Amino acid sequence: MSNPVSTTNPCNLSKEEKLIFEKSSHGRTGTLPPIADIEETRPEDLIPPAMLREDIEGFPELSELDTVRHFTRLSQLNLGIDTAFYPLGSCTMKYNPKVNEDIASLDGFARLHPYQPDELNQGALQLIHEMEWLLAELSGMDAVTLHPAAGAHGELAGMLMIAAYFREMGNPRKKIIIPDTAHGTNPASCMLAGFSVILVRSDDNGVITPESINAIMDEDTAALMLTNPNTLGLFEKHIKEISDIVHNKGGLIYCDGANLNAILGISRPGDMGVDIIQFNLHKTFSTPHGGGGPGSGPVGVKSFLEPYLPKPRIKKKDRRFSLDYNHPKSIGRLRAFHMNFGIVVRGYSYIRAIGGEGLKRTSEMAVLNANYVKEALKGHYHLPYDLPCMHECVFSDILQYEYNVNTLDIAKRLIDYGIHPPTIYFPLVVKGALLVEPTETESKETLDNFIDAMKKIAFESKKDPDTLRSSPHTTSMGRLNEAKAARNPVLRWKRETGK
Ligand SMILES: *Cc1c(COP(=O)(O)O)cnc(C)c1O
Repeated sequence: MSNPVSTTNPCNLSKEEKLIFEKSSHGRTGTLPPIADIEETRPEDLIPPAMLREDIEGFPELSELDTVRHFTRLSQLNLGIDTAFYPLGSCTMKYNPKVNEDIASLDGFARLHPYQPDELNQGALQLIHEMEWLLAELSGMDAVTLHPAAGAHGELAGMLMIAAYFREMGNPRKKIIIPDTAHGTNPASCMLAGFSVILVRSDDNGVITPESINAIMDEDTAALMLTNPNTLGLFEKHIKEISDIVHNKGGLIYCDGANLNAILGISRPGDMGVDIIQFNLHKTFSTPHGGGGPGSGPVGVKSFLEPYLPKPRIKKKDRRFSLDYNHPKSIGRLRAFHMNFGIVVRGYSYIRAIGGEGLKRTSEMAVLNANYVKEALKGHYHLPYDLPCMHECVFSDILQYEYNVNTLDIAKRLIDYGIHPPTIYFPLVVKGALLVEPTETESKETLDNFIDAMKKIAFESKKDPDTLRSSPHTTSMGRLNEAKAARNPVLRWKRETGK
């Protein structure tokens, strides 16, 4: 028997949430400080008169409780991983254990300044050094930099290193091969680093073949940029053979490692012929992400690329750690200061807390959960690649075509069931794609609830397509014209006109 689908929507707030200015009532106040028993200093004695305001027009006056409620309710107008299931494919929206937040906010980490002398930063430098080693060990690489601030930043760092390497060889190659399943940041990073992009098509099984690489790999191609597992959630099973072909022509293998969550402690890109890889700490290693917050995209390389890593590097000598700028071949600095250190601390804390066995179990559960969802929804939704998947699975809206219901309708309707939609219309190789990544942190009950909601929506497509096409119905905002909303955002609610 299937579970009843939850219809309580965490977004289901009153549509009449007033502006804080409208809730104001003259004379209300949050706190009442005691009467001072010392002589009062007037603001005019402390602040230059030109900088003093007479009063603040319409300043809201509310009790503490009303203020708390107002902002708490506003904070709930969004869906997040702490409120609901969030199967956003390729983004690895796993739960972030709060202990990582506690560790990162310890004074010894949070109150450091990057200009402090090395002697006062020994603990932080040691943590960075150990984190580099942990990531190298996990991926089978020889050296790691933690400087890049996001996955795409790591890709760019990698491409700049590849360019520097070929320049040094006296052979500045110009092309990078990228599969049609790649994330959009891949070609962008190549172009920014001055390369042109050659597209290679995946086959009917969703992976690239040695034959297709053989046909286009030449002596002007610097690298193949491959995501493994790829964005269809499929393992590029020919990678060893493909990397031999590329290496034989003097090229390098770059791996977009954003999907590492599928292979932790099971297989290592470095053992598959990968020369350079970026990690997304904010995906695989459990750091809150979304909303444009800080990320971290470390890059691992084989030893022959180590001289090109960004500087400063961390040096360990006689059990002392220091920032080392003496790397003449380095691609230089990528950013102000050294890294998003707080994110590195969260990733480090996560790895140390669950350990090697825990990491392996993480990937096993991530893969199991994705396959569970895939098998349960097969038949209700079209499955373009009916194969065992890794950490995510892709459906399309083909079965809903005849009812004039599409992927966007399905995604919007999920919001009514209190679930964040999966990634939609990506990867581009699947028309009307729904890319579902449940992650390992979700319980069977949560997966079953999602499966039931998806089945219900498949049923509604036949019986009540109008409800789907006008969803969501339980949120404070209904279906927006997305093109218009992006080009002409209305950020202020105009109560007078009601628009
Ligand atoms: C998320 C992702 C990226 C980009 O990472 P950002 O941190 O968002 O810059 C690149 N490739 C893949 C496959 C991804 O999923």
